[in-house]
Amino acid sequence: MSGPVQQRDAACENEALAGIQAREGRTTEVGGLPVARVLPTKGRRTVGAWCFVDLMGPADAEEPDPMEVGPHPHIGLATMTWLLEGEALHTDSLGTEQVIRPGQVNLMTAGHGIAHAELAAQPPFRGVQMWIAQPEVTRHAGSDFVHHAALPQIDEGGLRGMILVGSLLGATAPTQTDTALVGADLMLDRGSTSFATDAGFEHCVVPLDGRVRVGQEVLEPGWLGLIPAGVEELPIAVETDATRFLVLGGTPLGERVSMWWNFVARDQDEITAAYRDWQDRTDRFGEVPSSLDRIEAPRPPWLPAEDR
Ligand code: MN
Repeated sequence: MSGPVQQRDAACENEALAGIQAREGRTTEVGGLPVARVLPTKGRRTVGAWCFVDLMGPADAEEPDPMEVGPHPHIGLATMTWLLEGEALHTDSLGTEQVIRPGQVNLMTAGHGIAHAELAAQPPFRGVQMWIAQPEVTRHAGSDFVHHAALPQIDEGGLRGMILVGSLLGATAPTQTDTALVGADLMLDRGSTSFATDAGFEHCVVPLDGRVRVGQEVLEPGWLGLIPAGVEELPIAVETDATRFLVLGGTPLGERVSMWWNFVARDQDEITAAYRDWQDRTDRFGEVPSSLDRIEAPRPPWLPAEDR
């Protein structure tokens, strides 16, 4: 039928929607688990302040090993852990010992320096490990750990799921971050919908189960869809019931981050200093209560071979 231009039609005319790009993640391995790393990706280091997104697992059903990541350091970022299946024990140099299960968020802020370890219970295990780059104003400050045991659930226009951080679909998570962010784990049955997004944010969509079409781009699991700022209404279509995907976004960081190993900084000198502090076991990172072996840092490739 003809009639007034609806919100969805107007959204399709939005030039920003034409700027959506699909990027394939790369497969790697972390702590004995297969991982699809969807961010950073070719030509893009950050979406808002999100600077790292790993889809972990599931473990090989034939030879399932629990995920084991021994004590290792971080600077300049907050880690957000979100499990889809199983449970894991987080320990860190603040003295934290925290079990995390699906539906809960662990948010660990590194600031100037923190160290932690992650140990999964027996498989099945599946989760998402995300990093959030800290802005200049907080990245040299102290470290912190917060566990959110319960997060707001949404069931709106066929979309159901949970809000991990920020506000979406009328719900707001209690999670506090240094920059304005949104993060949601959503599920949609076969069909299409659209929902309001903050036009000041850039976003990405990360399929977890099933293929997701965002605007004209089709995203497979293990892919990332980049959505530029300026989109007020995000059109989503899926082919199968219970298709599950993440929506992440935030105010563009406006700072060029430099990432190497577990460090988020602004230049090589800062990373070299953090590398030496970890290898020299200075008190910058502290001790982690963990039965796992400490992970030694690889030598940064810009240091001469005779250097330590
Ligand atoms: Mn870590």
